[in-house]
Amino acid sequence: MKTREDALALDAADPLAPLRAQFVLPDGVIYLDGNSLGVLPRTTAARVQQVVQQEWGTGLIRSWNSAGWMDLPGRIGDKIARLVGAGAGELVVADSTSVNLYKVLSAAQAIARADAPAKKVILSERSNFPTDLYIAEAVAREHGCELVLADWHELPDRLDVRVAVLMLTHVNYRTGRMHDMELLTQLAHRAGALALWDLAHSAGAVPVDLTGAQADFAVGCGYKYLNGGPGAPAFVWVHPRHAERFWQPLAGWMGHAAPFEFKPGYRPAAGISRYLCGTPPVVSMAALECGVDTLLAAEPLGGMAALRRKSIALTRLFAELVQARCGFGGFTIASPLLDDERGSQICLSRTGGAYAIVQALIARGVIGDFRAPDILRFGFTPLYTRFVDVWDAVGHLVQVMQHGEWQRPEFNVQHAVT
Ligand SMILES: *Cc1c(COP(=O)(O)O)cnc(C)c1O
Repeated sequence: MKTREDALALDAADPLAPLRAQFVLPDGVIYLDGNSLGVLPRTTAARVQQVVQQEWGTGLIRSWNSAGWMDLPGRIGDKIARLVGAGAGELVVADSTSVNLYKVLSAAQAIARADAPAKKVILSERSNFPTDLYIAEAVAREHGCELVLADWHELPDRLDVRVAVLMLTHVNYRTGRMHDMELLTQLAHRAGALALWDLAHSAGAVPVDLTGAQADFAVGCGYKYLNGGPGAPAFVWVHPRHAERFWQPLAGWMGHAAPFEFKPGYRPAAGISRYLCGTPPVVSMAALECGVDTLLAAEPLGGMAALRRKSIALTRLFAELVQARCGFGGFTIASPLLDDERGSQICLSRTGGAYAIVQALIARGVIGDFRAPDILRFGFTPLYTRFVDVWDAVGHLVQVMQHGEWQRPEFNVQHAVT
């Protein structure tokens, strides 16, 4: 691509372009961080106000039934299921990703080891998101397992008979590397292990086919590509063949077969409902549903497959433009260059200055993020990112580097939270 006009022409020809109107995007901002916190859908504020003023304010406790509050975990779960290749009634919205991971990892190790007690290993990737590894460490301690970490390319060799559970994040949060879910699940099964997938950077970003891949368990995040808002509840999926094989460890009343009988003695609900724990956060759920609906709005336009085509075009263009226009900047493209191996983000690495360069870009309205120690991370959400945004973002990066803007002292003060 040679000129800004070329980018504008791609936007003019983009059949998904109308989807951008679903969002509130502040003027002067190029938002390349939807992989960390998705943007605000236009419908969310009014919907949340309706839930608060009418359903809560007027309906009061009646709204658990009359406004369908009790159904929210399953109703939104069914919508997310359409995005990740799961069946209706197989996926629920609940708690946080970390908490859901605790539930399913506990279940996975118990189920895998029920028939093969000698299996002791939970296998994961060294560069997995820290909370996933912390939870795995805790589950391993609790059940006398061992957490074994490998680099991504070592995983097939490490899948030996000792492995009970292969627990991976489908798209790596830092590099954007995407695993072959079907292949690794198959290799896990061949070793007699179960496969658990974290879809935090996949759901709403890339097509996922949990059923087709024969995956065993999955969790995912509501506030990233699903645009559910800060701290939105997460989701959990268990393949129906396992759903009723185990009491998940957080046996709360919402996962009980008859929560309103108020009887002592736990009886787990049928199917995935037993993976609920406590009362659903209704206001947050309402916001999440608005976010999920922005993705379902793409279904008549080709759905996740069409979004994926655009996402690949966006990430490929960004990588090309960085190589063509920022050759002097000392950047290495840390994400896989092969489309099939990459999620919806591009990461650059640079020895020194990565944090300050991200800060200088943010000051110019280009919002990406920094991931320690040396990564500049840019997420591309095909629902609302335009080709001209990619062109302009690289233009800002060129400016930041050419004028040494990033070396200004204010960009080099590291804050605790980024
Ligand atoms: C974002 C993310 C999480 C977030 O977990 P929370 O419980 O919502 O804080 C977990 N795992 C991965 C891989 C993530 O990318």
